[in-house]
Amino acid sequence: MNDFDVIIVGAGMVGLTVANLFKNTRLRVALIDKSESSAKASVTGADEPKFDSRVSALSSSSREILTRLGAWTLIEQQRYCDLREMYVWDADGTGSITFSADDLAAPRLGTIIENSLVIEALTQCLESTCDVELLRPCSVDALEEIDDWVLLNTADQGVLRARLVIAADGVNSKIRELKSFEVREWEYNHNAIVSTVKTAKPHQKIALQRFMPTGPLALLPLSSGVNDNCQMYSSIVWSAEPAYAESLMDMTDKDFCRQLSKCYETRFGEVINCGTRQIFPLKQRHSVSYSKDRIVLVGDAAHSIHPLAGQGANLGFLDAEALTNEIKKGLNMGREVFDPVTMDRYQRARKGHNLGMMVLMEGFKRVFAEDILSVRWLRNIGMSRIDELKPIKNYLARRAMGLNT
Ligand SMILES: Cc1cc2nc3c(=O)[nH]c(=O)nc-3n(C[C@H](O)[C@H](O)[C@H](O)COP(=O)(O)OP(=O)(O)OC[C@H]3O[C@@H](n4cnc5c(N)ncnc54)[C@H](O)[C@@H]3O)c2cc1C
Repeated sequence: MNDFDVIIVGAGMVGLTVANLFKNTRLRVALIDKSESSAKASVTGADEPKFDSRVSALSSSSREILTRLGAWTLIEQQRYCDLREMYVWDADGTGSITFSADDLAAPRLGTIIENSLVIEALTQCLESTCDVELLRPCSVDALEEIDDWVLLNTADQGVLRARLVIAADGVNSKIRELKSFEVREWEYNHNAIVSTVKTAKPHQKIALQRFMPTGPLALLPLSSGVNDNCQMYSSIVWSAEPAYAESLMDMTDKDFCRQLSKCYETRFGEVINCGTRQIFPLKQRHSVSYSKDRIVLVGDAAHSIHPLAGQGANLGFLDAEALTNEIKKGLNMGREVFDPVTMDRYQRARKGHNLGMMVLMEGFKRVFAEDILSVRWLRNIGMSRIDELKPIKNYLARRAMGLNT
């Protein structure tokens, strides 16, 4: 009963995607999560819509994956906001860049969506078949390997055995720790504050990103519903040095809104109110190897990245697809569900790409944190030049959108 071909640990956006991609494979698959249920999306008809403060800017490749899995049709019936434009500017000068979907002849730059809606849709897709067993609450406390099996000791479901364990258990992955994966990590020296804010003027489906010496501030447009597209709400991701972030957390809502209005130069008017603020310490982590024996890492368990370009979940969706594709190819060629060749091919497909994105984000963060006059001058000139050089600008935008360039 407790023997599986594959156990996926973690039913976040990435684990659920992996699980859905295993449908129709005839493998015995279990998806386990330590929490009893996932956070429920709160799409209500109330006067003031309630939004999940965790949102993601999804690229077109992620949206394609969700479409293929049938999750997108469910999301469409709820709410999401297609990004028309993105305005990026430097607080310390005059440099700015505008990315626009029209310039790329694309329907959108990306899609802003609440994480809970993605999770809910992927869970529904999974529950519509009997291919994957969803076990929760089920928290892994220990693991050991005996012969060709991985044994997972869980607090709630006893011992589970699998030929392959896929760790999708997030940034502080227990599986990664239990298996002693070597991890390269460094502090960003930033904490990110997330919240939903209401502004006096509509966002017109425009995202804003302002680079300040203390860290970047982003406003991502939200839609209040398919039939009621009020454009007064945005989700903020405000990354700041820890002391400043703490002081922002300690402020009253009124003071926080006032400070936010000032910092984003009231581009959508004054900030009228804000929802609950949540804070996340940011750390860059990258596992040196993505697999070890019969354990393989995906999503944040393999890599965590600064949210300034909103790429973490997008990279995770691509990991999920690459890993399941390699496993399916291996099975078609007569290999076992776990095979070192398959694991190697997965790592080669994903590690370079993930690392490239992490280096790029680190570069952005450093250049914009620099206070030296010559660097400030150069980055302002650089931004304005890139804004004029459409081929380069469009290349950058297409990369971020997950389109082939
Ligand atoms: C402020 C902020 C803004 C972001 N914005 C964006 C964005 O705009 N676009 C984007 O692409 N990405 C964004 N990201 C990144 C994105 O949120 C993550 O990359 C993504 O959520 C990772 O998903 P995951 O499924 O790998 O991990 P998680 O979402 O962390 O899921 C892990 C799951 O594992 C379960 N679990 C943990 N331990 C155990 C255990 N021992 N046993 C069983 N289950 C366990 C947990 O309950 C959880 O359900 C942002 C991140 C932050 C912090």
